[in-house]
Amino acid sequence: MVEVSITMIQLQITEQQTNMKNNSNIVSSPKETCPLCGSEQVTRKIHGYDMEYGSGEEIAKIWVKIPLYNCPQCKIEYKNWEAEEIEHNALCKHFGVLNPDEIKQIREKYQMKRNAFAQLTGIGEASLSRWEKSLNIQNIANDRYLRLLRNPEIFKELQSIVHVLELSDLDSDENIIPFRHIQQRRDLGSTHTKFELRKAI
Ligand SMILES: [Zn+2]
Repeated sequence: MVEVSITMIQLQITEQQTNMKNNSNIVSSPKETCPLCGSEQVTRKIHGYDMEYGSGEEIAKIWVKIPLYNCPQCKIEYKNWEAEEIEHNALCKHFGVLNPDEIKQIREKYQMKRNAFAQLTGIGEASLSRWEKSLNIQNIANDRYLRLLRNPEIFKELQSIVHVLELSDLDSDENIIPFRHIQQRRDLGSTHTKFELRKAI
């Protein structure tokens, strides 16, 4: 039910954004009440602005349009979760990573609860929760991992690997196999320390 109402609100925002050339048209608000006085006389306008991200020379400006609410009684202007969701999605788009809904869709595609998905993928449940709730953005490595998981074949393969690891008796020699490449890396590492850099003539 909650998801349906979110979608409806988003559709309304999109409609308003499309219809309006002016960024400050005032429209009546759907069901919004003032968080301070509870008044229903709240108005809503779509506000376009350059959202700044980062600091110093690294600063990025991302153009976003968000709903702003105004309570005539308290004389305050405020934004709610809708705006924060729009801003967060704009950031995800800017960084070229999946947005919270897209991440959630991957998990739901396999009909998994968050803890089961976390256990299978090795992604921390708390991290997954933060990404899905727009509280944090996944790094590039995790983003690419998630994108791969959208492929059912890859997902199936992961399930088979995790299944094997869960069932394996770690004391048995056979079960060293999955870690063999780590062993090889260690060998390479020790060989590598034998090299030294020389000045080219
Ligand atoms: Zn108020």
